[in-house]
Amino acid sequence: MTDFLIATNNAHKVEEFKRILLPLGINVISAKDAGIDLGDVVEDGKTFAENAKIKALSAFRKSGLPSIADDSGLCVDALSGAPGIYSARFGGEDIPQSHRNELLLSEMQKSNISSRAARFVSSICCVFAEDDIIAVEGVCEGTIAHSPCGDGGFGYDPLFIYEDGRCFGTISGDEKDKVSHRGRSLRALRDKLISRKDVL
Ligand code: IMP
Repeated sequence: MTDFLIATNNAHKVEEFKRILLPLGINVISAKDAGIDLGDVVEDGKTFAENAKIKALSAFRKSGLPSIADDSGLCVDALSGAPGIYSARFGGEDIPQSHRNELLLSEMQKSNISSRAARFVSSICCVFAEDDIIAVEGVCEGTIAHSPCGDGGFGYDPLFIYEDGRCFGTISGDEKDKVSHRGRSLRALRDKLISRKDVL
C-alpha cells in the first residue's frame, strides 16, 4: 500500500488529513513525522488549484514520495470572493487569526453588498510523478456569522455557519468533516484513487 506525504506544515490541516484519510484506508504521513523539510514554497498561482499543484509538486520533488497538498480558503460574496486564495495572509502575514476574523467582519460591514453568503473551498493535488497528477476540489456553502461563535476548529471556523445553521467553531472535528470542503475534496480524492489498484 502506498504511503502519501502530506505537503503542509499546517498542523490543523495535518490533523484533518489524518482524521479523514486514515479511516478511508489511505496511509498519510506528515512532513514533520517523515523528517522532511518542505521549505518555503512561493504560492504564486492565481487559483486554489494552481497553488495546490505548486505545493504538491514541490513536496514530491523534495521527497520522491507521492505527495498530497491542499490549497484552501474562504470566499465571501460581500467581499467579491475575498479573502479567497489570500485567506492565510488576509490583513498581513503575522497577525493573529482573531484579528483576521475581526477584519473580515468589519470589511463586510463597509461593503455595499448585504449578502452574508460565503463558501470554503479546498483544492487537492496529488502527485505520483511529474506526469501523473490527480486534482479534485471540494466546496462547502454557508454564511458568515455577525460575531465569532465557539472556539473549535481553526482559521475562519468561528465565523462560518454551515447551511444547517451550525457554526464550524462549535462542532466536533468529525461533524465538520462530514460536510466540510476538505471532507468533500479528500473523499473525492479517495474515489479517484480507488480505481488505481496499484495504490489502495
Ligand atoms: P493555505 O495554507 O494557503 O491553503 O491557506 C489556507 C487558509 O484558509 C488557512 O490558513 C485558513 O485561514 C483558511 N482555511 C482553510 N481551510 C479552513 C478551514 O477548514 N477552517 C477555517 N479556515 C480555513
